[in-house]
Amino acid sequence: MDRNKSHAIIVGAGPAGMIMAWLLVRNNIQVTIIERHPDFSREFRGEGIQASVMKHLEELGLMGPIMDLKMGVPAEAARVFFNEKPVAVLKGIDPNSDFGLVLHQEKFLQYLHQELSKSSLYQSYLGHTAIDFVENNHGVSSITLRDKERREKQLLGDVIFVTTGRGTALRRKLNLKATQVATHWNILWILLPRPKQDDLIPKGFRAYLNGDNLFILYTNSDGLIQMAWGRKEENKLREKDFEKRKATLLSEIPSNYQTLVKEGYQETSRSQFLKVECDRLSSWHYKNVLFLGDAAHTMSPVAGQGINLAIRDSIVAANHCIPFLKENRSLPAETFIAIQNERIKEIKIMQRFQQKFGYFMLGAPKWQSKIFFFLILPVLKKIGLQKKILKMVQGGVSKVSIKHLQ
Ligand SMILES: Cc1cc2nc3c(=O)[nH]c(=O)nc-3n(C[C@H](O)[C@H](O)[C@H](O)COP(=O)(O)OP(=O)(O)OC[C@H]3O[C@@H](n4cnc5c(N)ncnc54)[C@H](O)[C@@H]3O)c2cc1C
Repeated sequence: MDRNKSHAIIVGAGPAGMIMAWLLVRNNIQVTIIERHPDFSREFRGEGIQASVMKHLEELGLMGPIMDLKMGVPAEAARVFFNEKPVAVLKGIDPNSDFGLVLHQEKFLQYLHQELSKSSLYQSYLGHTAIDFVENNHGVSSITLRDKERREKQLLGDVIFVTTGRGTALRRKLNLKATQVATHWNILWILLPRPKQDDLIPKGFRAYLNGDNLFILYTNSDGLIQMAWGRKEENKLREKDFEKRKATLLSEIPSNYQTLVKEGYQETSRSQFLKVECDRLSSWHYKNVLFLGDAAHTMSPVAGQGINLAIRDSIVAANHCIPFLKENRSLPAETFIAIQNERIKEIKIMQRFQQKFGYFMLGAPKWQSKIFFFLILPVLKKIGLQKKILKMVQGGVSKVSIKHLQ
């Protein structure tokens, strides 16, 4: 590490952290990434990428490797069914464009790490958990890490980006306060085998709603079916007895997927419960520590926004910070405030949309959901509002562009 050059510490190697590392290293800035897992085979964290972020990945030269190395597959459309009747087919914002991309996070993050590791500017502490900050008169000078053997170490940095995702304990260490946004349901994610019947393989996403539960299914880059089973209360999703849990699932799954679940859902199937949460910090920064992605604003899974907003946060933060870091200047508080101000509109609007749409998906009384999907949605389509909303979901609310491309 060259002591005469700025050094950025990034805590958390999710999409926000790794894209931040990618942008900084490409701009000749020293980076240390800290990740509590020893590798990238982590908890399932969703895979839906919107058109706006596909554009950023293209600019960063990453879309080529994503497609060539089969880290992602195009999602042609999102098909919505209510009581098993089709109510909407959502396609890309431009004619002939896909609805988005299904990106295998583990493969993608591992790829970024592998490529970054070729640079002497990149250093990583995998299998290390950041537990606290060390403050002096000038700000937060370093961060304390702990490895699996509980050995502690302190790392000095000029700026610390905290991208540790939902529920991070590091918020409390700096006494940062969050505003909660109401959510309406929870999810059990289950990975299922590829169905034998072709018509059961989603070319993109399928959402099955009925007012009592919901199912979202898509084909991942390995050709397997990733399924979200949503319910208002969590106890049936968290049922410890596998046979009981499977019986409830079979009583709720749309009829065409009965056989797939009966044969394909096993006790050993990869699955993960998601307590749906949505919140945002009042202030994203404390001195020279900046929170980004889910650590700053945890997103609900409605309309697949979390990964996208996390990546867009890092792009905006990098735009603002790179000129200072390149010239080895310390970052003023105004820079962090400017980053939050530039991002907050998109975050607030998307969280409000997630709350409202999530309510009609599975929070409202059944009759209200029915009215929404059978009567209001066709009207929205007719008056062009559906297209406008889709444009916002896929293209983002704010204009974000990568300013420093090397
Ligand atoms: C089950 C599930 C499904 C989802 N589906 C989608 C979807 O389809 N589309 C979408 O856009 N969003 C989805 N989301 C949301 C999306 O995954 C998140 O919004 C996104 O991953 C946020 O990225 P991030 O980089 O901010 O945080 P994360 O991806 O959560 O990454 C944080 C990283 O920090 C590490 N870490 C945490 N604490 C520490 C610590 N103290 N020290 C060191 N490392 C630490 C974690 O291990 C992790 O690797 C889903 C989320 C979940 C949980």
